[in-house]
Amino acid sequence: MLMMMRAYTEGCRAMASTAAAAYDAAHHHPDADTRKQNQAFYEYLVPLVKGYSTEMSLEVTSLGVQVHGGMGFIEETGAAQYYRDAKILTIYEGTTAIQANDLVGRKTSRDGGQTPKAICTQIEATEATLTASGTADALAVAKRLKAARLAMLDVVNFVAGNTKASPNAVFAGSVPYLMLAGNVVAGWQLARALLVAQDMAANGDDAAFAPAKIVTALLCRSHPDQSPRPAR
Ligand SMILES: Cc1cc2nc3c(=O)[nH]c(=O)nc-3n(C[C@H](O)[C@H](O)[C@H](O)COP(=O)(O)OP(=O)(O)OC[C@H]3O[C@@H](n4cnc5c(N)ncnc54)[C@H](O)[C@@H]3O)c2cc1C
Repeated sequence: MLMMMRAYTEGCRAMASTAAAAYDAAHHHPDADTRKQNQAFYEYLVPLVKGYSTEMSLEVTSLGVQVHGGMGFIEETGAAQYYRDAKILTIYEGTTAIQANDLVGRKTSRDGGQTPKAICTQIEATEATLTASGTADALAVAKRLKAARLAMLDVVNFVAGNTKASPNAVFAGSVPYLMLAGNVVAGWQLARALLVAQDMAANGDDAAFAPAKIVTALLCRSHPDQSPRPAR
């Protein structure tokens, strides 16, 4: 449970940093095409940072109560207060369903799914780098990342192909789509972190930090079927 809390937290933080970097590149990169691509990437990430990360804060703080058992539930010990405080995040960040509507409408259907498909192409490149690295850890994460990317592509194709003809069918699944995309993009950041950490470990840099990053990224491999719960 502690490791799941760590992986969700680090994945969400890394996704927020990636969004911030894309925002900077969208405004300051010298090449106009690169600015445009980063703007689209950033805009896709916004509902994930606001919707997925805030939902995951509930998962993390709920696990924080669970770790402590009955003592976690008792208000005086403090763990439950984090859980209650986290509940506001899924409301005052615009609410999860509204973020999911934005993800479906403006961020996926409007350009026929081009932006999430371009993100999947970037994820595929990370899978190739993991495979080329050849370590058991990288290969295990590449396998899970590929399965996650293909699942996301399935949904993106469904959303892009059906929003106009069957809006109810698409929007009824908007929050599960948000949670799936958040899981894939945050998990992708953990995979990228693993690649950097492997290099650091090979160079003997930071003996405590790099192995911890690798073990955290491996949670993508060890808990393949444990999906976060969608919005309650
Ligand atoms: C403590 C606090 C601080 C805040 N601070 C700010 C602030 O600084 N600036 C600011 O601008 N606002 C702020 N807000 C307001 C906040 O943005 C709103 O609470 C938020 O946008 C949700 O609106 P609502 O509360 O009216 O919920 P509603 O819009 O009534 O939503 C209720 C539920 O219905 C769902 N829902 C609503 N519409 C749809 C739809 N079309 N499809 C599917 N589901 C839907 C929502 O997801 C939600 O689960 C704050 C709110 C709180 C509680």
